[in-house]
Amino acid sequence: MARHEALLNLRAILVRRRDALRSALAGDLSLLKELRSESPGDVVDAAYDSTQDEISSQLAEVESRELANIENALERMKAGKYGLCEVCNGKIPMARLNALPYATMCIECQRELERSGGGYGARREAEEASEEAVGGELEL
Ligand SMILES: [Zn+2]
Repeated sequence: MARHEALLNLRAILVRRRDALRSALAGDLSLLKELRSESPGDVVDAAYDSTQDEISSQLAEVESRELANIENALERMKAGKYGLCEVCNGKIPMARLNALPYATMCIECQRELERSGGGYGARREAEEASEEAVGGELEL
């Protein structure tokens, strides 16, 4: 089973998110709200929470970026490259794709890039990194 089925499932999720984000950017938050009830605690959730009645330009920017990420992921699926690391061409584990569907690099390459000062990547990656770093950085 598989990976192929899992990818198809992810694709369906991404398509729904894309549609919801497109609608939200056009001023209709109902789809985003609907998604929120299904997937608490993710980016969509955060976006909706801060939206209230209007979309601030900052939020619109975040949504535009996520939309671009999703469209990029869908393009990669179409091209048969989705789930493969852009750098080393290795398979990105499903667990990572589920957590971060727009990941275009495997965790090793992502970390390597962060170490070398690249700014690419999602907040979740940064959060993971900061959790790891907590132990040594408590001194003020
Ligand atoms: Zn890689």
